[in-house]
Amino acid sequence: MKIKNICVFCSSSDDIDVDFFKTANELGKLIAKNNINIIHGAGKIGLMGEIEKGARNYDTKVIGIIPQKLYKRGIYSETLDDIIITKDMKKRKEIMREKSDAFIILPGGFGTLEEAIETITLKQLKYHTKPIVFLNTKNFYSDLFSQFNKFYNNKFTNPKFKDLYFIAETPLQAIDYILNYKYNEIVDKWL
Ligand code: AMP
Repeated sequence: MKIKNICVFCSSSDDIDVDFFKTANELGKLIAKNNINIIHGAGKIGLMGEIEKGARNYDTKVIGIIPQKLYKRGIYSETLDDIIITKDMKKRKEIMREKSDAFIILPGGFGTLEEAIETITLKQLKYHTKPIVFLNTKNFYSDLFSQFNKFYNNKFTNPKFKDLYFIAETPLQAIDYILNYKYNEIVDKWL
């Protein structure tokens, strides 16, 4: 399948280490160079804003999807190529999911984690078959992966579900995985 839009879930914080910004900028640039549009939460702050900066000066689009409540607070970027305002968070995530051909999870907090886990859970239940990549900059998610291993080792989760997502260390690895991705039928959760 041709990858036209990649959704990036990422931090809305401006106070994080500069290395996270560097990776977000690099990722934005790399996605745009590959002629792929970026979809994200529309924020001008944190890694969302930095991804947009990285992608600037290329022909591809950065599209922001934001719920009415956050839009009204004025924390959206005014330089986006397109902005979609949704009724609520639920609708926002639904549109992000429908419009995107792949998902990349950069370091983030509760908002990012919630978006990531929902996307993985829906793939587990076969609502979609799209590639999902964690970008593990500075081992940011390594503790989370230890928790995932606890799920597998204690049989809360089938170890085959490790295939639901890919762990990349660099933006290049993330894009390579997505561009070469082929969905492999996974086991049913219960059957
Ligand atoms: P967090 O990881 O808690 O910083 O939340 C970031 C994620 O939640 C992003 O991927 C956005 O989709 C959403 N989000 C949180 N805060 C904002 C904001 N101020 N503007 C736009 N989206 C936001």
